[in-house]
Amino acid sequence: MPQPLGLRIQGARQNNLKNISLEIPHDRLTVVTGVSGSGKSSLAFDTLFAEGQWRYIESLSTYARMFLDRVDRPDVDKIEQIRPAVALEQKNPVRTARSTVGTATEVYDYLRLLYAKIGRVHCPTCGAPAVSHSPESIVNTLLGEHAGARALITFRLAVPAGLPPAELWATLTRRGFARVRIDGDILDLAAPAPADFGDRTAIAVVLDRVVLDPAQRGRISESIEAALREGGGQLAVEIVGGPTRVFAEDFRCSGCGAALERPQPLLFSFNHPLGACPECKGFGNVLKYDEARVVPDRTLSLADGAVEPWTHPSGRWYQRELMKAARRKRLDTDTPWEKLPEATRAFVHKGDGTFPGIQGFFEEVESYRYKLHVRVFLSRYRSQSICPTCRGARLKPGALAVRVAGLTIAEFTALTIDAAARLVGDLGLTAWDAVVAREILRQLTAKLTFLLRVGLGYLTLSRQTRVPPCEAPILADVVELMISIGNSNPRDRGCASDDGSLEFSAHLLPSHQLRATFA
Ligand SMILES: [Zn+2]
Ligand SMILES: [Zn+2]
Repeated sequence: MPQPLGLRIQGARQNNLKNISLEIPHDRLTVVTGVSGSGKSSLAFDTLFAEGQWRYIESLSTYARMFLDRVDRPDVDKIEQIRPAVALEQKNPVRTARSTVGTATEVYDYLRLLYAKIGRVHCPTCGAPAVSHSPESIVNTLLGEHAGARALITFRLAVPAGLPPAELWATLTRRGFARVRIDGDILDLAAPAPADFGDRTAIAVVLDRVVLDPAQRGRISESIEAALREGGGQLAVEIVGGPTRVFAEDFRCSGCGAALERPQPLLFSFNHPLGACPECKGFGNVLKYDEARVVPDRTLSLADGAVEPWTHPSGRWYQRELMKAARRKRLDTDTPWEKLPEATRAFVHKGDGTFPGIQGFFEEVESYRYKLHVRVFLSRYRSQSICPTCRGARLKPGALAVRVAGLTIAEFTALTIDAAARLVGDLGLTAWDAVVAREILRQLTAKLTFLLRVGLGYLTLSRQTRVPPCEAPILADVVELMISIGNSNPRDRGCASDDGSLEFSAHLLPSHQLRATFA
């Protein structure tokens, strides 16, 4: 039988390729190496893969082709014996353990934008909604609630430590201010400054005295804007014979007054320090030492080696220290672990000043984590548990205090694509929010509809893309192949190997179809 021919390329000139011809054997691993810019990618991606894709796409129906990007044929004289090509790009988005269906399909990017634009911010501590003021809303509040009253518009000025009051007086006068308030008194800056401020760190500067008369709206607005500017976004309006109203431009809790973070898209990114839960670093779970693994056989006594890691050579010293500590503290070393008093077990875990305990042992070993065998050793005793801070939501508390349609972004991504699409179609937005979010919602709807159409409505957006083999995950870059094949039966979806989409794609293309395509 003749040897099957390899892949033959003649006259490849794509990008910087210099009219090269070569043959690559089939069913072998072929490595293309070379210095940067020598044309490795031009050959592998822009010639071989591009030609494979082109032939494949050309074989599809016009309808299926509508959903695929147009691919240009590479600049090459002839390619023979080409087989279906799958490209695993260098920038494979399915790489980290934090990647989810939502992030891989970019649905999550639009959700982050949506939450940043129209999310309702609540206080993570007390749950009350956040408020923030603009000069206009402050004026409206004042004219609405205190019309006709006389008022002092003031801002808070920090006093540098050790600054003599006379110097402060001179500075303020030069800048055109006339009065300050210190404690209950209004002081005229034309009069001499008090000799001493004591340990005072701030005073209130009176920016304007006004009557809250709607006819004065222009002047009041100007003063409010100036006070916000001078006061770093905060001001106080003292209503004569009434309350002092404090307004801030920044986000504050309307309940407890705590400063809150104004949402921005990165706040909702568990891949970014701005958004990630500080405890689990955005993974949603934490690795903890698991007693069931450290003491696998609870019928053993301390002397028998109940603490399994201490039966290894690296733990011998700790086992001897345990025995010494037990003699010192008169602990029972011959009773099975499961029958030991709780206090004894706690001591073995935590140790004391002279005995490091199981915790101290792991801390010591952790410092050698850079060695592979140490990491392997440690991994035997740890198991994953849900992060106690974010409860698996992966975001920091500030991010989880923002809601759209009553849901946090974590609750939103826990929805299936099917449910998410229905909710996006009916968010019950105010007219203003609908305008602000129109384009985001359009994009989001398009993405979700696409996923629905390829039969993935049952997946949740928070589902991790990196899962053990054969648990039928979804990889964004092959969704496009699926729609063209019209294969939406989950059983036929194949599975992802650790490195991405190879196996997946292989399953996607039934052999009879391949033969038809490349015959
Ligand atoms: Zn609060
Ligand atoms: Zn967490």
